[in-house]
Amino acid sequence: MNIHEYQGKELLRQYGVAVANGKVAFSPDEAVKVAKELSTEVVVVKAQIHAGGRGKAGGVKIAKNLDEVRTYAKELLGKVLVTHQTGPEGKEVKRLYIEEGSNIEKEYYLGLVLDRATDRVTLMGSEEGGMDIEEVAEKTPEKIFKEVIDPVVGLTGFQARRMAFNMNIPSKLVNKAAKFMLGLYQAYVEKDASIVEINPLVVTKEGDVMALDAKFNFDSNALYRHPEILELRDYDEEDPKEIEASKYDLSYVSLDGNIGCMVNGAGLAMSTMDTISYFGGRPANFLDVGGGATAEKVTEAFKIILSDANVKGIFVNIFGGIMKCDIIAEGVITATKEVGLQVPLVVRLEGTNVDLGKKLLNESGLNIIAADSMADGAQKIVELVG
Ligand code: ADP
Ligand code: MG
Repeated sequence: MNIHEYQGKELLRQYGVAVANGKVAFSPDEAVKVAKELSTEVVVVKAQIHAGGRGKAGGVKIAKNLDEVRTYAKELLGKVLVTHQTGPEGKEVKRLYIEEGSNIEKEYYLGLVLDRATDRVTLMGSEEGGMDIEEVAEKTPEKIFKEVIDPVVGLTGFQARRMAFNMNIPSKLVNKAAKFMLGLYQAYVEKDASIVEINPLVVTKEGDVMALDAKFNFDSNALYRHPEILELRDYDEEDPKEIEASKYDLSYVSLDGNIGCMVNGAGLAMSTMDTISYFGGRPANFLDVGGGATAEKVTEAFKIILSDANVKGIFVNIFGGIMKCDIIAEGVITATKEVGLQVPLVVRLEGTNVDLGKKLLNESGLNIIAADSMADGAQKIVELVG
């Protein structure tokens, strides 16, 4: 789960990590009110969406007086911001963060991420921070330094200082930077984050070290023990199909292709997507209905697939182990009765109760194309979708 920059900065404050003063605003009036309270010469008006790259897309505005704050707030609220992370459809700006302008001396990059190759939380830092970090990672990866963190010991002071030295933080500020990193690590661990990115971390002309941006991602498996984080969830930022799927505890991820997939088991779902791609098609979603799914759950899953206007064909690929083929068949039939089926449907069933499942589908009157294998099914749906 992601949160907004302003929420991330609030978390950082709780852990003593330095951030500039600022507050969220939902209207131009509120924006001006917050700016007045800040009473600094320069105020930054920042679009709050769950995507980076706002600076380059015109979502970060520097205002030199209250009139400019109002102008920028009006301009940004309601605007659909297209950044390199939003996809071409962009995201509508509904909240703003109004923040003190910083007197930036230099921008750095700092991040914490769980590295699955080492099974360790890893601190990453670079002196080449700011809006082009992706390019730095691609062209000059040697400029990004790493500290692998032992989970028993945690991030140590010497690791944090070594990182600060590697990043070429001015020597007078190394201790401030190290304190920043230790606070950041504590926040990461205690809140069960999976990614924290501070880009940029800045050194100011006044000699402060602070976060100008904050991106948090949390491990959704751990959210049950963080109601305070769950409260920060912004449904406006999420795909409505994924929200619907999460209500039924379905593993569903929306993708940009046109072949809807209903599969059981994450591994089978992945290989189904690969097989579709192999035959030249593009999956519209990842969907694992799980092992012990009920007919109701399968019905909801199928409805979600059908609600996607991009879906031009559906491939049901089920290996009935714990999941029974007749339950899948029931779900498919109920869902299509409720919402109709305008697109071709290819079904491949195998395993427990397969004969009963096939019988139900055959007697349903639905126009179903049967497949003998995963490859056969994938090929058929790709051909039908064209
Ligand atoms: P994004 O990563 O989405 O582009 P950032 O929050 O990183 O958004 O802002 C982009 C750039 O805007 C920063 O690299 C920094 O140069 C500038 N900026 C952001 N906040 C401030 C601020 N409070 N004061 C001065 N400059 C800022
Ligand atoms: Mg940034």
